[in-house]
Parts: sequence; C-alpha cells; structure tokens
Amino acid sequence: MGAGVNPVLAGIACRCPKCGEGPLFSGFLTVAPQCEACGFDLRKADSGDGPAVFIILIVGCIVGFGALITEVAVHPPVWLHLVIWLPLTLFLCLALLRPFKGVMIALQFHHKASEAGGKDV
Ligand SMILES: [Zn+2]
Repeated sequence: MGAGVNPVLAGIACRCPKCGEGPLFSGFLTVAPQCEACGFDLRKADSGDGPAVFIILIVGCIVGFGALITEVAVHPPVWLHLVIWLPLTLFLCLALLRPFKGVMIALQFHHKASEAGGKDV
C-alpha cells in the first residue's frame, strides 16, 4: 500500500490518507496522533474548523429545501416540521462531520505531499 490510495475514499472511510488502512480518528472528531498501520504523523493534518462550514452549508441546504417541499406538498403542522427536521439536522451534521473532516485532511495531505515530493507523478 502507499501510492495508490485515493485520498477522497480514504477520507470518507475515515482512514489514514497515506496508507488507507489505519484509523484517522482516535475519538469522535479527535485526529489520532499517528497512523497505527504506517506510523504517518497525523497531527500535522488537523483541518480545524474547515469541515464544519461545509457541513452547515450542505445540511442547511438539504433541510431548508426538504422543509419547503414538504410544506408545499403535504402542508403538515409546525410541530411536525420541528419533529422531523430538528433531529434530521442534528443527525446529518453528526453523520457528515467525520467523513468530511477525513476527506479534508486527506486532500490537505495529498496536496502538501505533491508539492513537497512530486516524484510519483
Ligand atoms: Zn497510515
């Protein structure tokens, strides 16, 4: 393993961007200090708050349109909207945060790696 790892797929699977095998996270959103499989230093790769911004935009879009379409099509009472969309928003945010952060870290690593080395082009 090594050169053939797709950074996006590794990120979605929450795996190490270098070898695609070791887990990327040690907690829910805590990036592991290093990869268990290849020893790659993952602390440098922390993407900070980057993913949260994308998640808010994407989830806001999905939930906003979903609520609008449901309102027009079914015209449910307001409490039903809240019961559906609030948990869904929370669920989508939590569900997307890890793979998104994984992909961002992987892309970050990918671009830095190609800038620094450039030997396996
Ligand atoms: Zn690794």
